[in-house]
Amino acid sequence: MTDLSQQTSGINTTGCSVAIFGGTFDPVHNGHLRSAIEIKESLGVDELRLMPSHRPPLRDKPGAESRQRLAMVNAAIAGEPGLCSDDRELLRDGPSYTVDTLRDLRAELGLAVSLTVVMGSDAFNQLHRWQDWQSLFDLANVLLLHRADYPLAANIAVTEFVEARRVAEASALTAVSAGGFYELGLIQLPISATDIRQRLASGRSIRYLVPDVVADYIAEHGLYT
Ligand code: ATP
Repeated sequence: MTDLSQQTSGINTTGCSVAIFGGTFDPVHNGHLRSAIEIKESLGVDELRLMPSHRPPLRDKPGAESRQRLAMVNAAIAGEPGLCSDDRELLRDGPSYTVDTLRDLRAELGLAVSLTVVMGSDAFNQLHRWQDWQSLFDLANVLLLHRADYPLAANIAVTEFVEARRVAEASALTAVSAGGFYELGLIQLPISATDIRQRLASGRSIRYLVPDVVADYIAEHGLYT
């Protein structure tokens, strides 16, 4: 495999910028969606791609099929400028390691485009357990989102590693192709997919926690009951 590490952490000479917001999206909810808008505006990226994980390596099998989770994401973001989905992890068997996804994206986008991977504090607290986690920073910038319900408690090695890569503002990430780190405080909506699944399992309403199109899809397909 080509060693991209020496080639990607440079100036973004293309003017193009892409951010990836990965997750299980089981189901996608208003916490994800409001965050997506704020991420896009803070970074000033051309495109924010919501990317459902096919087989999340560090958690139980999702309640809905991958295709159903993708369909809910697509319904939720339909017509929203700058937001789109990316189904590449659904096309790959085995655990959906982010490092593999980023290598794939680099092969498609080239080395100079600014690529940023977004993760909430719950994911960031587990980053030391991710496959080849240091390589993520060779391939992309990392944007950390604070979540009200998950205080930051990252591994010490991760904390030291990102400190050296911290940039002064979110928009600085789009000026470089990879290697930068920024922590974004955004509107706090303590909504979680776990809570939504529990509400559905106990017959309670999820109205206003997810877009109506997502609630309708869940009802039509009898998900999470
Ligand atoms: P679950 O409860 O099943 O773990 P979740 O609600 O945390 O799900 P995920 O699909 O695991 O949702 O999250 C995808 C990404 O979105 C992660 O980086 C996560 O931190 C972030 N995220 C999830 N919920 C919120 C929220 N309410 N506000 C901001 N970011 C969120």
